[in-house]
Amino acid sequence: MVAKKPRVVIVGAGVAGLTAAHRLCAAGGGQQFDVSVVEASFRAGGRVLTSEFAGHRVEMGATWVQGIDGSPVHALARDAGALAADLLPYERMDGFPDRVLTATDGGEVVDADRVARPVEKLYRAMMEAARAGEAHGGGGVEEYLRRGLRAYQAARPEKAAAGDANNNNKEVEDALLAMHINRERADTSADDLGDLDLAAEGEYRDFPGDHVTIPGGYSRVVDHLVAALPNGTVRFGLRLRRLDWGQAPVCLLHFADDGALAIAADHVILTVSLGVLKASISKDASADDAIAFDPPLPQFKRDAIARLGFGAVNKLFMEVEPDEEFIGGDGGEPPEEFPFLHMAFRGHVSRIPWWMRGTESICPVHAGSSVALAWFVGREAAHLESLPDEEVIRGVQATLDSFLPGPPRWRVKRIRRSGWATDPLFQGSYSYVAVGSSGEDLDRMAEPLPRGPSADDGRAAPPRVLFAGEATHRTHYSTTHAAYLSGVREADRLLQHYS
Ligand SMILES: Cc1cc2nc3c(=O)[nH]c(=O)nc-3n(C[C@H](O)[C@H](O)[C@H](O)COP(=O)(O)OP(=O)(O)OC[C@H]3O[C@@H](n4cnc5c(N)ncnc54)[C@H](O)[C@@H]3O)c2cc1C
Repeated sequence: MVAKKPRVVIVGAGVAGLTAAHRLCAAGGGQQFDVSVVEASFRAGGRVLTSEFAGHRVEMGATWVQGIDGSPVHALARDAGALAADLLPYERMDGFPDRVLTATDGGEVVDADRVARPVEKLYRAMMEAARAGEAHGGGGVEEYLRRGLRAYQAARPEKAAAGDANNNNKEVEDALLAMHINRERADTSADDLGDLDLAAEGEYRDFPGDHVTIPGGYSRVVDHLVAALPNGTVRFGLRLRRLDWGQAPVCLLHFADDGALAIAADHVILTVSLGVLKASISKDASADDAIAFDPPLPQFKRDAIARLGFGAVNKLFMEVEPDEEFIGGDGGEPPEEFPFLHMAFRGHVSRIPWWMRGTESICPVHAGSSVALAWFVGREAAHLESLPDEEVIRGVQATLDSFLPGPPRWRVKRIRRSGWATDPLFQGSYSYVAVGSSGEDLDRMAEPLPRGPSADDGRAAPPRVLFAGEATHRTHYSTTHAAYLSGVREADRLLQHYS
């Protein structure tokens, strides 16, 4: 007689789900578990999505490997052969430039040595202190940074004769700090940096070493994981609508509203985003963007889901070209390369739309490229998704015309943008620890259900619903490597259970 293998259904074919599947499929020489991955969409990768735009390889989602020393994602990219540059140019293939053009709206170039760099140095030192757990005062990160700038300005010897210049400097410095705050918003996905918990920043970790992009595209990492799974392991177009998990020993996963399509499993590993989980615990969750849990998720899990932050971050790619009016002849000199533009908004130019003002920079994806990139966060990111292309182009054009000194010389030809906020399968981009939450909530996110001892014998109850995904990792949350490590963790939890 052949013993029945435990059946594991993994919900979501992002990095976390595929990694868990990979590990479980390999267990016991491939014989220990009956594994399937159910994915609502018709592609693997989730928030990893490589695309092409204007002859360039671009990432619509995950972009960086955040520290290469010891990163499992970097190792996977190497194994996938994705680290070797091939024909297509790709984002940040040349690293970061030493010099950028920092300007204010109105086209005033900010003095790099006297003003821009000192404020950047201050911001970086303060964030390093926060990440080393050395920041004091509690509350949110925005107030912490603003306190730092006020102290810096107060410590500067006032030059009696230069009162006006000093005031002007202060205004520009405030705008520069707001620019760095916008950068930090994009890094963390916190719409309001006042809502990003300062103490929790001390727990967040990247891997050591360089931060790099993947020449062959992030999606190659995903393809590599899928290729290593037995054929048919990943089943596409299956959207989990309801999970019945209260009746031991099995769970029932429903994929149609009328209950017509259901799969039974001994264990479910849920890897959907924190955004989908938030929608699922919301009182007015509609059937289309939520998973119904029967019984409802326990209070400790609901509280953690509600307290943690999950923000929207979108990338906007623009193809730019020199404005013909200004090429040669009477129009003036042909333009140089599109600059690495860092934008300090003072609010002086009313024709720049509000949704552009939370953007730190517009930079070519590599030096000399005709494709430029800007990152949007929170309200601005969500609004960007609602606008027609022409309106986005007009808004960006007004911004460039205002910031680039001299006559306007660059024209935005066409654009491509991501849409993570309104996509019902994500409902945002990545997680952060909000004020009022803590690293403990990330641990609670990772706890399997049911919690506590079994009623039958008082021993720990078998894990029936397990949770993986970037928002379940206490120190690496928000990244692809958090997703990877969480997938390994939950596969190991099952291996341990059956050992
Ligand atoms: C714009 C952007 C930039 C980023 N930049 C970086 C970066 O530079 N570096 C980095 O490390 N990380 C970055 N990230 C974050 C990184 O992409 C994620 O942390 C990681 O990919 C999450 O993987 P996951 O497996 O946890 O979740 P997901 O990738 O969200 O996978 C979950 C899967 O579940 C599926 N699903 C959802 N609902 C259901 C359902 N009801 N039934 C069945 N399937 C369902 C989804 O379709 C998805 O495929 C970025 C993300 C975004 C959006």
